[in-house]
Amino acid sequence: MSLEAKNITKLYGIQKALDNVSFKINTGEIVGFLGPNGAGKSTMMKIITGFIEQNEGDIFVNNLNTKENIKEIKQQIGYLPEHNPLYLDMFVKEYLNFVAKIYSADNYKKKVSEIIELTGLTSEQNKKNGALSKGYRQRVGLAAALIHNPEVLILDEPTTGLDPNQIIEIRNLITEVGKKKTVMLSTHIMQEVEAICDRVIIINKGQIIADKPVKSISGLIKRKKQIVFTEFAESVKTDIFEKLPEYISVVTSENKSFLFESDSEEDIRPELFHFFADNNLILITMKQKDENMEDIFRSLTQ
Ligand code: ADP
Ligand code: MG
Repeated sequence: MSLEAKNITKLYGIQKALDNVSFKINTGEIVGFLGPNGAGKSTMMKIITGFIEQNEGDIFVNNLNTKENIKEIKQQIGYLPEHNPLYLDMFVKEYLNFVAKIYSADNYKKKVSEIIELTGLTSEQNKKNGALSKGYRQRVGLAAALIHNPEVLILDEPTTGLDPNQIIEIRNLITEVGKKKTVMLSTHIMQEVEAICDRVIIINKGQIIADKPVKSISGLIKRKKQIVFTEFAESVKTDIFEKLPEYISVVTSENKSFLFESDSEEDIRPELFHFFADNNLILITMKQKDENMEDIFRSLTQ
């Protein structure tokens, strides 16, 4: 089942959250929707699932327009909203029965048992949602999204807030259930896309800035530069850094603070530390900066 957004624009008051966004996801694809906070990911997902309306443009699910067929379309979409809202006082099984009934899922008791097993909730099914760990709550959210056996899954930041083990478990679960479905998953973590997705759509400030196979982006991440921020107790003359090895360069300087950059695979901080000490520079801060989304965006859009 395919999913298509055509020229979607969304305004909140005068603020443009989505600006003429278009993309198409084909049947069976797992696509990552990647962007920093505030990029417009959740807004797009709420529009696709019919929870809010766009100002302009159309969404097609299997060539049906959400403006005319939202009821049929909702039957085909499983949606895990951001922050996974659950009724905390309901028991897991009770909650899933409740959701199944809302969707009028056929033979819902059997369906609920199957989903509980699929999502690894068997040991937790008689607990209250509120008593579960965050990882298990996320499984309940996924189970609820899957209960009516939808062909399209829309997952809004499904692993945010989970610990590393839970992240791996949820990613595996998504990969498993995603084999037979069309999946769109939002995240602000590049590695998440690499781990789960075939394709990545990158959104920034309400606009799509890249739409590529994940493989073509992995190369970019591996080629990333090391950036080290330093701060000294006293102001430093830049010419002293001309004596640094050629694979380390100063990118910005500001009296007492400097940014160093290197293509080297090895951590350059020990080398810098000795250099500063040998030159009697009193170092008060040194930290490695991760290549952030903005840097990746820059390299992608260049
Ligand atoms: P993301 O999910 O990528 O973090 P959102 O879609 O939540 O981004 O938000 C996109 C932009 O729209 C942000 O600037 C956000 O502050 C704004 N926004 C989101 N929801 C609302 C709302 N209900 N009212 C006003 N502004 C909103
Ligand atoms: Mg969001």
